[in-house]
Amino acid sequence: MVSERMKQLGTARSAIRELFEYGKLRAAQVGAENVFDFSIGNPSVPAPGAVNDTAIRLLTEQPGLIHAYTSAQGAADARQRFADSLNRRFGANYTADRLYLTAGAAASLCCVFNGLTCPGDEYIVFAPYFPEYKVFIEGSGAKMVLIPPEIESFQIDFDAFEGAVSPNTKGVVINTPNNPSGVVYSRATLERLAAILTRKSAEYGHPIYLISDEPYREIVYAGFEAPWVPHIYRDTIVCYSFSKSLSLPGERIGYVLVPQEAADGGSVYAAVAGAGRSLGYVCAPALFQQVTSICCDMTADLKIYEENAKMFTAALREMGYHVVEPGGAFYLFPRSLEPDDIAFSERAKKLDLLIVPGTGFGAPGHVRISYCVQPDTIRRALPKFQALADSYR
Ligand code: PLP
Repeated sequence: MVSERMKQLGTARSAIRELFEYGKLRAAQVGAENVFDFSIGNPSVPAPGAVNDTAIRLLTEQPGLIHAYTSAQGAADARQRFADSLNRRFGANYTADRLYLTAGAAASLCCVFNGLTCPGDEYIVFAPYFPEYKVFIEGSGAKMVLIPPEIESFQIDFDAFEGAVSPNTKGVVINTPNNPSGVVYSRATLERLAAILTRKSAEYGHPIYLISDEPYREIVYAGFEAPWVPHIYRDTIVCYSFSKSLSLPGERIGYVLVPQEAADGGSVYAAVAGAGRSLGYVCAPALFQQVTSICCDMTADLKIYEENAKMFTAALREMGYHVVEPGGAFYLFPRSLEPDDIAFSERAKKLDLLIVPGTGFGAPGHVRISYCVQPDTIRRALPKFQALADSYR
């Protein structure tokens, strides 16, 4: 006997992975240059040279030490560097003992949900959303409450949100810049969200935590602002990752920050650490604790994403697609040209255009295009998008 739930999770592929795997098969048949794979969010720019140089230096200078276990929560010097960097950048006073280093944002989120969840707890998530949230939240024993998308701007439908907050709400998850919409929540959106959470926390007599999932924090385009969320809402817990900012998704490194100010912060941090222990997320990859903490004020050369976003958005709009302007990350989330986004994505697939149906992100009638690819791939794909649009005329 095995857990049926885990078996199901382990065998069912996500729509994204399904398409990604199909793309590899198809590339073997028709040549990689003829398959336009916009399915997955794998950064296309290399990590900064300093990342590799630092790794090599550490491997050379500390060959015996660098592979050793660190403290469960991460090496003290690495955590101190992260705290110093956050304090410099955001004018804060974070201390190393409120940082818990993890294997990427995925592990950070799991530590937070598992650390916070008590029986009956719920987390509110805004569509469109990163589908793994449901797996992580339910894995912690809590319930995910999904707020439908506000499709004109992909900011927040506040009426729906207010209606969903209840005494069972333990936390609210945000992800800005957003996967899959590419939208950045405005300061006004965050302030309104904070005001509601502050009021509801007081009304229910317990804090409602804002869990800010921030793998795309550094990928923000000109004319947009991604405010530092803990400065807008006190009871924020930050889940960060170096997967996108430093182009290191395979190295599995990120952190949870429980700010000093957050309600019951000491207990929350201890519970995050306890969850890390119970899940086996202790001692994040040691070499990359050091490398990322030494390089945490840098980013990969991210400007290609902004150039891609501009070119792609303009071209798709010209063809008649409805696209909300992205402010960051590296995704576009246009409306599908028929209500059934799964049928639309299948039709695109026949043209070797791999785009992910919005249904899995909680926003049917849309598709996600991941444009962390070379600009030439986009240029060569545009006639396919035109042919797709023409097929509906
Ligand atoms: N959260 C969001 C919104 C993401 O898009 C991703 C990865 O694509 C993750 C979390 C997980 O990131 P990591 O590689 O840091 O685990």
